[in-house]
Amino acid sequence: MNYKIALIKGDGIGPEVVGEAVGVLEAVGKRFGHTFDFVDVLLGGCATDAVGKSYPDGTAEVCRACDAVLLGAVGGPKWGSDKPAEQRPETALLAIRKDLGLYANLRPATLRSAMAGACPLKKETAEKGIDLMMVRELTGGVYFGKRDRYQTEDRGVECTDLMAYSEKEIERIGRRAFELARLRRGKVSSVDKANVLETSRLWRSVMHRLAGEYPDVAYEDVLVDNCAMQLVRDPGQFDVVVTENMFGDILSDEASMVTGSIGLLPSASIGDAAPGLYEPIHGSAPDIAGQDKANPIATILSVAMMFRYSFQCAEEAAAIEHAVDAVLAEGWRTPDIAEPGAAAIGTREMGRLIREHI
Ligand code: ATP
Ligand code: MG
Repeated sequence: MNYKIALIKGDGIGPEVVGEAVGVLEAVGKRFGHTFDFVDVLLGGCATDAVGKSYPDGTAEVCRACDAVLLGAVGGPKWGSDKPAEQRPETALLAIRKDLGLYANLRPATLRSAMAGACPLKKETAEKGIDLMMVRELTGGVYFGKRDRYQTEDRGVECTDLMAYSEKEIERIGRRAFELARLRRGKVSSVDKANVLETSRLWRSVMHRLAGEYPDVAYEDVLVDNCAMQLVRDPGQFDVVVTENMFGDILSDEASMVTGSIGLLPSASIGDAAPGLYEPIHGSAPDIAGQDKANPIATILSVAMMFRYSFQCAEEAAAIEHAVDAVLAEGWRTPDIAEPGAAAIGTREMGRLIREHI
């Protein structure tokens, strides 16, 4: 097959890690007989520098004409919160997700066996293994609700953020979770705060209806505060965890920390029609940009997710994951995952070793 892929290299270490991921795409293409057209798309702080805004006109149209989008990282102190919204990289990220209708954010938190020592949890917990998939609703809830700020007479300034969800929004993310569970270990944990929030009560009732449609998938409700605890106590109990936008933002960061290696974790944002967007969960790491120190594995594993979820190519995805595991098992480490004082290799060398395995 020929695939057209939009490359948003972005800021900081973005161009370095995307460079290695493109190398991996080409290696997979060679082995499995695929070819790629790459389209460079300017977005983030680099776009602000080039054209005065972080989300240039026409960006969404260019991406929509592609089969998938690969993003490195955007952001950095240079384009901070003192700048107008249209110059800030975060504005561009929210806008492109919304414009492409990417309502489902998939974040696996996987403890790779060669990295078990990096897990900050108890040894028994790490040995049990961690392989969960966080499914976060990405375009609704309190992050997109109406905001207000006003002066009161007797209580100073008062602010509100509205949290809203519709049945339709909940159902489509819920279906994604159940479908994913069928491809994995067959369990969905739905996270809410139904003992307090009306949106959560609706969330729960829609999930229960879906659970009835997927009798082959085990289902449970988990309150968000309990989930936060369980992720540290026994993350091995989870397979697919589905939740709304803000809870998912917080819990997916927590889940990634229990694997101990943020530089290894990929993510996917997908919708119904538009191309999926694949990116590492880490940021632009301006402190190490341009020094051949960044770990490219999270971006390379994002390419594996691209093959699995956008191209329905499970074999290609597994080939990438196996290559990463093999290189880690041989003991190769970038500085972020090396033992203190141990030798480490650079971004490009890590990319080369993974390509060689493929
Ligand atoms: P953002 O707001 O963009 O998510 P952040 O403040 O969360 O950014 P990151 O850019 O993810 O921060 O960086 C946090 C720390 O992790 C930094 O010290 C950075 O150098 C390190 N880091 C992030 N990604 C990588 C990577 N791929 N390889 C090595 N180190 C990384
Ligand atoms: Mg961050």
